[in-house]
Order: sequence, then structure tokens, then C-alpha cells
Amino acid sequence: MDCPDNNLHPDKFCRQNSSTGLSLDFEPKQEYVFVETLQERYKCASCYLVLHNPHQTGCGHRFCEKCVLRLKELNEIPQCPIDKENIKQQEIFKDNCCKREVLNLLVYCRNAPDCDVKVALGRFQDHLGQCLYEEIMCSNPGCHDKVIRKDLESHLTTQCELRDETCTYCKKSMTSIDLQIHTRKYCPLYPVSCLNNCGNTCPREEADDHLAVCPEAEVECPYTSYGCYVKVKRGKLKVHEETFLRDHMLYVLNRNTKLEKQVKVICLCTPPREIILTSPP
Ligand SMILES: [Zn+2]
Ligand SMILES: [Zn+2]
Ligand SMILES: [Zn+2]
Ligand SMILES: [Zn+2]
Ligand SMILES: [Zn+2]
Ligand SMILES: [Zn+2]
Ligand SMILES: [Zn+2]
Repeated sequence: MDCPDNNLHPDKFCRQNSSTGLSLDFEPKQEYVFVETLQERYKCASCYLVLHNPHQTGCGHRFCEKCVLRLKELNEIPQCPIDKENIKQQEIFKDNCCKREVLNLLVYCRNAPDCDVKVALGRFQDHLGQCLYEEIMCSNPGCHDKVIRKDLESHLTTQCELRDETCTYCKKSMTSIDLQIHTRKYCPLYPVSCLNNCGNTCPREEADDHLAVCPEAEVECPYTSYGCYVKVKRGKLKVHEETFLRDHMLYVLNRNTKLEKQVKVICLCTPPREIILTSPP
């Protein structure tokens, strides 16, 4: 039998565990699926779950460490819930033998049936740390996606929004999510179609240059200042100029007539200046 321990302070247990070299443990209060039906002797007499840090009382029943501590907290004279015998402090001892047996009980991985591993209860957490079917956070800081471990690699290379990617057009590298915005809005070399639907496609940075020559862009008639306020597509400008040749000429003529009148008025108002002609000697 293992050495009795009368001091149930949790700190003391931690020290004892490490001094005996026990690094195995499991999360209590979780559901485990045991490969073989869990024997009664491995169940806590208080919580009926698998014993966690088992302690045996004078009546011979076993309790989890926390459960026996709680019995003592709740009652001045704690009683065994099975046989109602008083639990005497000096008769409680840590059952390391039972603990070892419990830690070696085989359980199924919680990711069964995908994962078919059977593992000792004490190694359950270790296994989850490597289980290919365990759900884990993406390893890219800032990505909050959860993936199962075996899919992490493909998530990182093909799905993660924060994976590194290179712009096909300008060769800048950035995260995948930034790249989407980059190509949609900013990449200077991304091919964009003309907004006027002329069929032209050019790098985004040349789009303005194209608009200056785009045949589908609307332009003013060159005779605007003479009074032709028509707007036509650049490609149709020549046709307009030919069709409206007469009108344009009339506009110009009109303007010319007006100008001539104005010049005459100016001449009449201004006294003629003497023009001194110097003849060569
Ligand atoms: Zn218990
Ligand atoms: Zn008992
Ligand atoms: Zn597993
Ligand atoms: Zn990710
Ligand atoms: Zn780019
Ligand atoms: Zn165009
Ligand atoms: Zn015109």
C-alpha cells in the first residue's frame, strides 16, 4: 500500500506527484469512452466518474481528491455517501496504486470514429496534442479559423485568408485577403475593361490615358465656342463634323460678322493716331 498522506492541501499533491515522477494526468469531469467497461473500483464514490487522484477512506471506498476535499468542506464530520461511515482525516490516504491503474486504462480518442486511436487515460491530452482529427486554431496569427489538424497544411496553402500570396500582375506579395482587395481596386497592372464598353482592356494605370482616346467616350464638338453644343462619341466626331459642316461654317461666319462690327465700333471711338513713316535717307 502506498504511503498514507494526511495533509490534503493541493500544493502538497503537486509536489508529491512531481517527486514520484508522475507526469501523466487527465482532465477530470470530462466524458471518456473506455475501451473496456469501467470497473466500479475505478469510479469515485461521490461523483461516480473515473477517479481523479484517488484517495481511499477508512471504510475502503475511493474518492477523487477534489471530491473528498469537498465532503470535508461541506460537513464537519464527513460521511461516506455509500455506507454512511464517518470519514476520519487520519484514515484518508492517497491511493497511488489505483491512480496508476486508472491512468493506464485505455480510452478511445474523443475524435472517434475518425480517429481510431486507443490511448491510456494518462496520455489522453498528449494524444490530442497530435491527433490528426483534433480541431485546432489556424497557426497564422490573426486567423480565427478552426481546422482539423490534418487539414491545416491545405488550409495554410489554399484557404487561409492570411496566407502569403503574390499578385499575378504586379508581383507584389501580400496576404490573400489583401490581394483580393488589391486586384479589385488598386493593382496598377490589373487589366481593366473600358468603362465605355469600347472593348478595350488595358492595365489599370493606363485607364485614364485610354479615356483620352477612347472612341466611345463623349466629347464636345470642337465648335462649342462658336455655338455648337452637341456632344458626340469620339468615334462619331468625324461624321458629325461632316454632317454639320454647313452649320459650323454659319456659326463661324456669324461670329466673324459680330467681331467685324465690334472692331468698327472700337475704331470709331478711338481717334486715329498719327502714323509717322520714316523714309530711308
Ligand atoms: Zn469524484
Ligand atoms: Zn465507504
Ligand atoms: Zn485521436
Ligand atoms: Zn488560417
Ligand atoms: Zn498587383
Ligand atoms: Zn474605351
Ligand atoms: Zn458641332
